[in-house]
Amino acid sequence: MKILLSTSEATPLIKTGGLADVAGSLPVALRSLGHDCRIILPAYPEAIENSDGLEKVAELALPGHNQDARLLSGTAGPHKTPIYLVDAPRLFDRPGNPYLSPEGFNWPDNADRFGLFCRAAVHVTMDRCGLAWKPDILHANDWQTGLIAPLLQKTPNRPATIFTIHNLAYQGLFDWHDFERLQLPEELWSMQGVEFYDQFSFIKGGIAYSDQVNTVSPTYAEEVKTLTYGAGLDGLLNYRSDDFCGILNGIDYQIWDPEQDPFITSKYTADRFESKLLNKLALQREFGLPENDSIQLFGYIGRLVDQKGVDLILQVLPGIMDSGAQIVFLGSGNSDLERSLLKLSNKYHTRVGVRIGYDEELSHRIEAGADCFLMPSRFEPCGLNQMYSLRYGTVPIVRNTGGLADTVIDVGAASLSNGSATGFVFDQPDGESLWRAVERAIEFYHRPDVAWQILAMTGMQQDFSWEASAKHYMALYESALQCMTV
Ligand code: ADP
Repeated sequence: MKILLSTSEATPLIKTGGLADVAGSLPVALRSLGHDCRIILPAYPEAIENSDGLEKVAELALPGHNQDARLLSGTAGPHKTPIYLVDAPRLFDRPGNPYLSPEGFNWPDNADRFGLFCRAAVHVTMDRCGLAWKPDILHANDWQTGLIAPLLQKTPNRPATIFTIHNLAYQGLFDWHDFERLQLPEELWSMQGVEFYDQFSFIKGGIAYSDQVNTVSPTYAEEVKTLTYGAGLDGLLNYRSDDFCGILNGIDYQIWDPEQDPFITSKYTADRFESKLLNKLALQREFGLPENDSIQLFGYIGRLVDQKGVDLILQVLPGIMDSGAQIVFLGSGNSDLERSLLKLSNKYHTRVGVRIGYDEELSHRIEAGADCFLMPSRFEPCGLNQMYSLRYGTVPIVRNTGGLADTVIDVGAASLSNGSATGFVFDQPDGESLWRAVERAIEFYHRPDVAWQILAMTGMQQDFSWEASAKHYMALYESALQCMTV
């Protein structure tokens, strides 16, 4: 099968979050199943720098845009995944990240930037660039690609369209003037189309017009059909429920493997679990904390935003300090949260380590060095860090939501006796509920037997490889193709 995956980020080209991991790994897994999967994304400077063998393959003249745009072709990563980069320097050759200026504000012309990207993806999809390659499936991801399915819907001989929601909270909302300027077909401006309470919604376009829609875990797929999690789109998702499902993300076991991770101090496996402690000592050293392998060490990695429940961690931090444990944070985002964390690291300088910023290598060392990993998200479409933690024998403490609920099995009498327990799960998004889970983890860690080690090793044996997820995507592609023939 020929598949074009359109995305605004993909490892190893450019990454701000989990979408990049998925968009980097899924094509590799699909290709290893024998399918011809290629990626299309905007030509940000970092993406150009990290690609191999780029060459210009077409000039693009796109309706609604008077920008110069070209299509570049090359490969990405060690598996040489074929990629197309949409090169429109006035829109994409900028500092900052794909969505935000260096000062942290949305680029004011995001509608034009991703509008052009969607038009270019349609061009490639319909083989209008002289590539002599036409996909059977166009797989779009998140709001930045939400206009592709609406633009394709009436095109004869179009491929089947899939839209994957990686996070419903980011919707790509603009206004009527943006819609008009992009010269989109007028009939798209309707309640059934991209109009969303008088605004212009990219994500709604993807959900309403794609043949199949999915999100990245079964539990999140159910949650977003409710008022609480639906972000205003629960009605539409219920309406589409026959063609809407959840497929759990996999993780890349070549990149996230404690046995061969080049970024960690001491490589280890479940059979050589004691070597993990050397990573803990190294991590304590790296954060300037007292080196002592019997002090329980908590870790957090992630965006510092309301979604991730970092404020809940701040609420339980005094209790963690009272237990004598240490905690390290790596993240960036909300400036109030950044300031609060830095303040706490001054106050408890022998117990709290904080790095504000994005540091891929350090994130591996935290996964390897910490004893347990905090992920108290208010909602979590899938979440990758809890799966990395399981792989690294770092016991996750997670909220019972979305992909966290689908990947971590709570310590309890039954799960301990049948050997399935892998972490600590709590229900309510509040400090009290989180504290009860943290308290259980503290008690469990200090048990005199090897219970903690068994728990960690059970996590290491879980299989969240991409092969299983890729097969589910293939089934979804098949059903999208079938939708088109009936
Ligand atoms: P989200 O996509 O909502 O940010 P996920 O858990 O799905 O959350 O994926 C986040 C990815 O980004 C993980 O691979 C995580 O390790 C990485 N990440 C997030 N923040 C940082 C950071 N500050 N430094 C390094 N990696 C980070």
